[in-house]
Amino acid sequence: MDIPRIFTITESAHRIHNPFTPEKYATLGTVLRMEKGTRILDLGSGSGEMLCTWARDHGITGTGVDLSPLFTEQANRRAEELGVADKVKFIHGDAAGHVSAEKVGVAACVGATWIGGGVAGTIELLARSLRPGGIILIGEPYWRQMPPTEEVANGCEGVAIADFLPLPELIASFGRLGYDVVEMVLADQEGWDRYEAAKWLTMRRWLETNPNDEMAKEVRARLTGDPERYAKYTREYLGWGVFALMAR
Ligand code: SAH
Repeated sequence: MDIPRIFTITESAHRIHNPFTPEKYATLGTVLRMEKGTRILDLGSGSGEMLCTWARDHGITGTGVDLSPLFTEQANRRAEELGVADKVKFIHGDAAGHVSAEKVGVAACVGATWIGGGVAGTIELLARSLRPGGIILIGEPYWRQMPPTEEVANGCEGVAIADFLPLPELIASFGRLGYDVVEMVLADQEGWDRYEAAKWLTMRRWLETNPNDEMAKEVRARLTGDPERYAKYTREYLGWGVFALMAR
């Protein structure tokens, strides 16, 4: 069980696999006003930066589930490094349908809502692990500027206009699902740069050490085209944020 190899090549050096920076995760951890000992479930936990730093800074405990063995191993190493291996654990597996045995105070899916078949399905899935009065965290892209054509949308990581909403509509959609938006922290273009531009040096180094790999041609094509495409499309059109939700 693994994610497509292109991600483990391009994001092998990432600690955060989305446009959030360490500062944004720190802000989110603070604004949620979590009590010490709050239990968190994180579906698609990646390399574990959110749970590990929040365990260190806020004394939370947590479990992450992720489909990538590499990212899961990195997450467990990060927990050791930050001295929180007794507070958080990371499990390798498919998070689709994952419900925690014990109810949690915060149930999160930050940048992986395909796990529940979209935002609505992921909220439903997370709600099954949540204690009454708990908080759901959803990390999701939105249109910062509406793409004028499908071609422009496609330039943003191959998506379609219909895949995302503008920010006010995304917020309204949470209300229609019966949730209050009680906090939000939005990424910015610098955060997008950290997420996207960090891939370029990783790809360049990978190409130097793996010139004959079967993925070399694809990685070369990406390294050649991605910086310009990113500046023209994703950086201008795509926003991203984490939304904190409580059932009405
Ligand atoms: N929340 C993390 C990672 C976001 S990237 C962060 O903030 O850094 C999306 C993550 O979802 C990747 O780590 C990928 O391995 C994971 N993923 C993709 N499909 C999954 C699935 N079906 N079950 C669990 N994790 C999945």
